[in-house]
This record gives sequence, C-alpha cells and structure tokens, in this order.
Amino acid sequence: MKIIRNLPNDTHLITITDPLNRQLYFNNTNDNNVVINIIYKDKKIQIQSKIKKNIFYHEFKKKLTKNIYLEVFVTKKGLTDIVHSELLMVNVFLCILLVITCIFLGLRPQQRTVKMAIERGIKRKEFIPFYQPIINSMTGSIIGCESLIRWCKANGEIISPANFIDIAEQNKQIYEITDLLISQVAEDLSKLTNIHDNFYISINVIPRQLQNQTFATKLLNTLSSAQVSNHRVAIEVTERTQFTNVTSAKEVMQRLIDHGISIKLDDAGTGFGGFSYFQELPISTLKIDKMFIDTIGTCDVKANILNAIISFGKEAKLTMIAEGVETQEQVNYLRDQGVFLIQGYYYAKPMPFSDLEKYINNNLKKDNH
Ligand code: C2E
Ligand code: CA
Ligand code: CA
Repeated sequence: MKIIRNLPNDTHLITITDPLNRQLYFNNTNDNNVVINIIYKDKKIQIQSKIKKNIFYHEFKKKLTKNIYLEVFVTKKGLTDIVHSELLMVNVFLCILLVITCIFLGLRPQQRTVKMAIERGIKRKEFIPFYQPIINSMTGSIIGCESLIRWCKANGEIISPANFIDIAEQNKQIYEITDLLISQVAEDLSKLTNIHDNFYISINVIPRQLQNQTFATKLLNTLSSAQVSNHRVAIEVTERTQFTNVTSAKEVMQRLIDHGISIKLDDAGTGFGGFSYFQELPISTLKIDKMFIDTIGTCDVKANILNAIISFGKEAKLTMIAEGVETQEQVNYLRDQGVFLIQGYYYAKPMPFSDLEKYINNNLKKDNH
C-alpha cells in the first residue's frame, strides 16, 4: 500500500496504490466520507477530510516508516457515486499533499541512508586519503601535499567528499573519519624516504575539531606512534563554518604550533571569519580559494577581491597558496603578484599514495637535472 520514492532535493513521494485504493474506494467510501491523517511521531496532519457531517469510523492505521503512520476514517456511506476519473484526481491530490507533508516535516531518509552507509564505511576503513601536490612555480619542485579524503568502496567505486562530507560533519562522523585519515597519513609519511626536510602533508579539519584538546592529543600520539616528525604535518582549517570558541581554538592551535605543526586558513574570504581570524588566531598561511583564482583574465568583479587578498597576505606577512590553478595564464599572473605556491590541476590532480610516491620521485629527478 505504500511506495516511498526518493526524489532529487531530499523530497519524497509517497504514492497510495493498490490495495489501499481498493480499501478506500471499493470499500464503500468516497472522497466525501473518508478522512486521512498522516501522523508523524505525535503530530497529526489531516490531508483529506469529510465534507458531509457524518459519523466516522476508524478504518485502519498503518505504519509506513518508523515514525510515520497513515490513519484512515470512513463513513458508512458507499462509494456508489464516485466515478473513475475522480479516483485518479483524488490520487494525484493525495500524492501532492503527501510530498508537501514530507517536505514540511523535514524528513530526509536519503540523509539517514547516507549516515548509515558512512557508519559501515568507517567500520570497513573505506575512507582513505588522496594527495594533491603543492608546487613552487619558480622552481617546479614539490613543497608538500594536501590530503583529500576519498571514500573507496569495496566494489572499486571512489566517492568524492562533496557527496558525503557535509553529512559526516552534521552527524559528527567527521571525527572518526579524520582519525582514520590521520592514521593513514602518518603511515604514508613514514614510508616516504625521498623527501626534503620541509616537505609536509596537510590535513583538513573543521573549526569544531580545533576547539578540542583531544584532537591535538590524538594527532600528536598518532604521529609519535608512527615515528613521524610533527613538522611533517600541517593543519588546514576551513572558514566555511564558524569557530564558536575562539579562546579554546587559540589554545589548541598554539599547542600544535609549539609541537611544530603549522596552521593554514582554507577557503579564506569565502566563509565566516573574513580576515579577522588572522588577527585572533595563530595562522601562518592563507589558502586562496579557487573561486578567486577563476577570476584571473576575466572581467569578474571578484578579480579585485583576489588582488585585495594578495595585498592583505603580503601586508600580514602570510605564506600564500593558490588553490584550483588550472592554466599557465593563472600561474603567470600569480607569479607576477608574488604568489608562488600553487596547488591545482595545472600541476597535478589528487592521487592515491602509490602515485604520489612516483610523482615525488619524478619531481626529484627533474630537480637534479
Ligand atoms: P578544499 O580543502 O578546498 O580542497 C580543494 C578542493 O579543490 C579539492 O576537492 C581538490 O580536488 C579541488 N581542486 C584542487 N585543484 C583543483 C583544480 O585545479 N580544479 C578543480 N576543479 N578542482 C581542484 P575535493 O578533493 O573534492 O575536496 C572537496 C572538499 O572536501 C575540500 O575542499 C575540503 O573542504 C573537503 N575535504 C576533503 N578532505 C577532507 C577531510 O579529510 N576532512 C574535512 N573536514 N574536509 C575534507
Ligand atoms: Ca583544504
Ligand atoms: Ca580550499
């Protein structure tokens, strides 16, 4: 009797089909003498009500999902006056109402499904880092990498963070995912032999994680167990969400810095803190978002913002890394502006660790020539 179909945008279509149709329409009822309620937890929403003032009898109550019930009342009056086309209209009407109801209730089964799948993925350790090189455009040499999480399923499918990271952040599953990632980064770092003294791998975190000393403790312990020097790791904190406790964040960051781990502000200028975080927090590097890099060579008004960001970075004596650089023109422009550290498809896409090892070796050979 119930079909729940997921539609784009997290809405859901609940269609009422046979045998419910039969129960509603062939069971001596019609749209004038049937009352349909949808009950979500304790909330009751009437989606079709009586027109005639008859006495209604409770026909049935059916559980659709864990929290949603369908409840139907009918009168004694029969269906005799209802025609077939009307049946169809009633069905369409019910469908529309149910879709609206589900949107109104904020039901997001799709999100719940992703959450459960992430849970399984964490247990199976399916979250692994890919690495994207950061290159000095003046010398062509690799200065470090950013670790970027990928969900590698058993069937070989690789899922990008855009499809799960927001849900993982909302459900706090990001903590376990970051733990998995840090362990893997530490293990990979311990295997890299062909790297110069300042080579590092950066790890993405959200502000909430950096407000908690447990994060710093775990990170330092993991690096120590893998016998990896702390300065091999850097932290990238995104500005997309807000720091709710700047004092705690400052303490955690300072502790990490005291242990040799630097802090970079990711997506600077796109999110919450604006540039005030650079005054309040011990951040040494500014990552210029792709959104601003994309304006190079265009008439986009944001091109002025790029220049303002670069001026600010120079003024504040920050290290700057340009992200999402795809063309020679962009590399040249940035070089003319004094931004030399480049991350983007122009040099390399994010890659698995085995490819990174090869990339580093080739890069080193180039350096030696
Ligand atoms: P992000 O930290 O800003 O990472 C840069 C994103 O830009 C990456 O997307 C990278 O693949 C992409 N990118 C780099 N260069 C280019 C380019 O030249 N062209 C284009 N079109 N894209 C480029 P990705 O890997 O899909 O990651 C998306 C976002 O997911 C990241 O943005 C970051 O915010 C988040 N993320 C990734 N890994 C983690 C993680 O371990 N923890 C957390 N909290 N977030 C993560
Ligand atoms: Ca990042
Ligand atoms: Ca970024």
